[in-house]
Amino acid sequence: MILGGTGEASALARLIVSRPGIDAVLSLAGRTSVPRAQPLPVRSGGFGGAAGLQDWLRRERTDAVIDATHPFAAQISANAVAACAGTGVPLGTIIRPPWQSCPGDQWLGVADMNAAADALGPEPQRAFLTLGRQELSAFARAPQHSYVTRLIELPEGIPLPPRIDFILARGPFEFDAERRFLEENRITILVSKNAGGPATYPKISAARSLGLPVIMVAQPDKPAGVRLDSPEAALGWLEELSKDHGRSMSGSERRV
Ligand code: NAP
Repeated sequence: MILGGTGEASALARLIVSRPGIDAVLSLAGRTSVPRAQPLPVRSGGFGGAAGLQDWLRRERTDAVIDATHPFAAQISANAVAACAGTGVPLGTIIRPPWQSCPGDQWLGVADMNAAADALGPEPQRAFLTLGRQELSAFARAPQHSYVTRLIELPEGIPLPPRIDFILARGPFEFDAERRFLEENRITILVSKNAGGPATYPKISAARSLGLPVIMVAQPDKPAGVRLDSPEAALGWLEELSKDHGRSMSGSERRV
């Protein structure tokens, strides 16, 4: 079973469908009402904590779990560590390293969203928030700024700052488009999670090229199993497991 919701999870799904003998399911949190099409069967929604995940792994006779969730999705990763330890199911975790600043970057590193809101300072800014829906509520504490945010779906039922513009769009966004976006929206500062990886990096290089500061929220500690650095490494790990299990299991199918 692949815990997904990221480009790495989708890439691993594509790799797995081309390998006969691995029977896999992709698990999504169910936050997006119309998720991208996937090449593997998809299950959607929370499991009900580590205990619920443990029950699911037993019920589905799961032989391995790959945690390919986002670097900021720490809860599901903690649940995966606990549930796999409780069931003896091997766990591999795809670790995406954070971005490193380079010459020309003006980053201010902060530990969490409240610190990011405070770091915008007392003077009114026009801030581009490239964050998840739930994380926007932290900026209600800094109503002196005006904000632009870009999301797949509008947030519901959370406190928001009084002046916030929503742009509904789904990436990827290339460098030229990001630069244009920052200029057209008269952005003076960005707030970004240090997500790592190439998919959402163009906004960071666009900010550098315009001399704009970025408030960069550090990755949380993400509990992990066997650390894997790519979807290809995850497939290799699964294939090794499959060989080891092959001697003790009958039949050719392995459920991941
Ligand atoms: P989270 O805080 O770690 O997870 C909260 C709860 O959501 C989990 O306890 C679990 O519910 C459920 N959940 C999360 N991922 C799941 C999955 N793949 N399959 C089934 N249930 C899942 O995670 P999050 O930050 O809300 O992120 C949710 C999903 O969005 C993840 O799959 C992640 O990869 C993706 N995502 C997150 C971010 C981000 O910045 N956090 C960005 C892009 C994509 P139960 O306890 O009920 O099982």
